[in-house]
Amino acid sequence: MRKILFTLSLGLLSQWTFSQTIINRNPEIDAMVKEVSSDSLESYVRKLASYNSRHTLSTDTQNGMPAAQDWVLSKFNHFAESSNGRMTAEIEKFTIPGDGRRIEQDSPGANVVATLKGTDPNDDRIFILSAHMDSRNKNVMDADNFAPGANDDGSGTAAVIELARVMASHSFPATIKFVAFTGEEQGLKGATYMADKAKEEGWNIAAVLNNDIIGNSESSGTLLKDNLKMRVFSETIPVAETEEEARVRRYTGADNDSKSRQLARYIKELGERYVDQFEIKLIYRPDRFLRGGDQTSFARNGFTAVRLSEMNENFPHQHENVRVEDGVQYGDLPEFMDFEYLRKVSGINLASLATLAHSAGQPENVKIDVRGLSNHSILLWEAPKVGKVKGYYVLMRETSSPVWEKKFFTTDTNLTLPYSKDNYFFSVQSVSENGSESLSVFPTPLSR
Ligand SMILES: [Zn+2]
Repeated sequence: MRKILFTLSLGLLSQWTFSQTIINRNPEIDAMVKEVSSDSLESYVRKLASYNSRHTLSTDTQNGMPAAQDWVLSKFNHFAESSNGRMTAEIEKFTIPGDGRRIEQDSPGANVVATLKGTDPNDDRIFILSAHMDSRNKNVMDADNFAPGANDDGSGTAAVIELARVMASHSFPATIKFVAFTGEEQGLKGATYMADKAKEEGWNIAAVLNNDIIGNSESSGTLLKDNLKMRVFSETIPVAETEEEARVRRYTGADNDSKSRQLARYIKELGERYVDQFEIKLIYRPDRFLRGGDQTSFARNGFTAVRLSEMNENFPHQHENVRVEDGVQYGDLPEFMDFEYLRKVSGINLASLATLAHSAGQPENVKIDVRGLSNHSILLWEAPKVGKVKGYYVLMRETSSPVWEKKFFTTDTNLTLPYSKDNYFFSVQSVSENGSESLSVFPTPLSR
């Protein structure tokens, strides 16, 4: 007990040096964000939309899904040439089990995956940037007719390709996977295959940024046009929550602090730090009504995963056969897209992903001391398992605030703050030597 008090008093001393830090952009990441090109993105979308169909069950090796997958693989392999052997690419083949619904019988499926291996052999973290490259028509079983899928989800696939291009020549301690999934429209088949495999094989997936429908800025019906905002969907109560986790959540009031919600806040902070004149809206639900996305396959397996999506959707341009009806053009065509908007959303992804891959591990055993009545808050944690840190940020917000409001820096592994633990929420993130923040960890109570 005496020792603990001594440590805490050191914490009290260190708090006098804290101040609200103004965080600058990392020049390397800033340059990468600026390298993202709307012209490149447009060329990828137009190429993807030029195939007759990228339907999951399309078997046309000349003008269908297999041909499109070969093309994505060729892009990844080309970018890998600048990676000093750290980037490898493959077509991950598997059998999609028949479900009697959108996959009538066992069928071949394939994800296209580029892996940029981390430079720290002790760091087994994997960050996943994903999109689905399969497309669809109104009839979800139609594998033969023209289904360009420019925005859904050629846009997300283009972002994945563009970030692989820009990031391949840079090195990060942690591993990044760039993934173009199949089977999303048939029921999240490609993502489920990878997420289940990852769980079974014990992959240390630290975050999944899933991009689905990110390249249009004009709404149908309400005629809104806005290229200054996007949405990040994150689950509130984790779908994979255990009974014990539920008990702690109820006790601490952490209904708004799932790991995926922390990732969403992180993307908001990092994205808005690097991309000017842009606002990220946090949407407190796993996805939209009647719709889903590949992030769900990872969330079901307990991984931290969010969906990034455009602000305003245009429904006549999604899941519709290409046709003109009563003078209205239907279908998911490149001509309806806003490539400058797609560039900004891709930059948001890059800023977040590069900072995460540069970060040290998350602090371990993050606790808030709730053993006594006090108007101070005492937080304690341990150093991360991987990476070198120069210190930690303790983040703080009002219990009614959606985003973190104050940030305290310390080089210790504990901090006592003159704010009551009853009135605020806290979390702790590590800061690596180059200033990159880890995802933040919501503390569990230290009660005895
Ligand atoms: Zn989609």
